[in-house]
Amino acid sequence: MSIDVHCHLDLYPEPFKVAEECKKRGIYVLSVTTTPKAWNGTCKLADDCPRIRTALGFHPQIVHQRSHELELFDTLLSSANYVGEIGLDGGRGFKDHWKVQLKVFQHILRSVNNAGGRIMTIHSRASAAAVLDVLLGVDGIPILHWFTGTQSQLKKAIDIGCWFSINPSMLETKKGYDLARMMPKERVLTETDGPFTKLSGRFLYPWDASLVIGKMACIWKCDIREAEAIIEHNFKQLLLGNSFS
Ligand code: MN
Repeated sequence: MSIDVHCHLDLYPEPFKVAEECKKRGIYVLSVTTTPKAWNGTCKLADDCPRIRTALGFHPQIVHQRSHELELFDTLLSSANYVGEIGLDGGRGFKDHWKVQLKVFQHILRSVNNAGGRIMTIHSRASAAAVLDVLLGVDGIPILHWFTGTQSQLKKAIDIGCWFSINPSMLETKKGYDLARMMPKERVLTETDGPFTKLSGRFLYPWDASLVIGKMACIWKCDIREAEAIIEHNFKQLLLGNSFS
């Protein structure tokens, strides 16, 4: 069982082929959108496949160009059980649009809260402290995807109930590896963030999420089968542990 809880299925050069391959291989995918406008088209990739679920997103790196889509986000929210990719980005080139990012993220979280909460996949590049501040008290389950904050920010994230999704690229750096070690075993999931990630020069596909398992087995000092069972169990708990999936 391979699980990818953060993947941009619609942004692969041939999205239907990738979706078809996921169906064939029996992969569980949370297919995230970067704009509300992409929602309808991306949902089509999940047709006839209950293992692929679509998340309604609004990526912080592009919200400044599309803040008019916020209304559409609110309209679509009632039909979306998952939300993402959402969040903040304080990295170079995006920090200039911090004000609008924050406004949009706060608006989205208010809408999610009013709608009774959602499972959310969250971007927090160079912005973990602010992301955690805004998340506090919001109904739902936040999954911090590709978390790159500090260890003390990680502790805070754990305290407020965040989950974490880890991709193969993240484990290539010492910082990422050390953070992964600190994450509570029962709140860890796997992802790829494909097609935005590469490993050894090749693009990652949803089935590559399983590459994380071997490394987590080393971290958890268990065998690969056991690590796989932990991730599967976590995934089931995530879906069971809320009323909105
Ligand atoms: Mn992403």
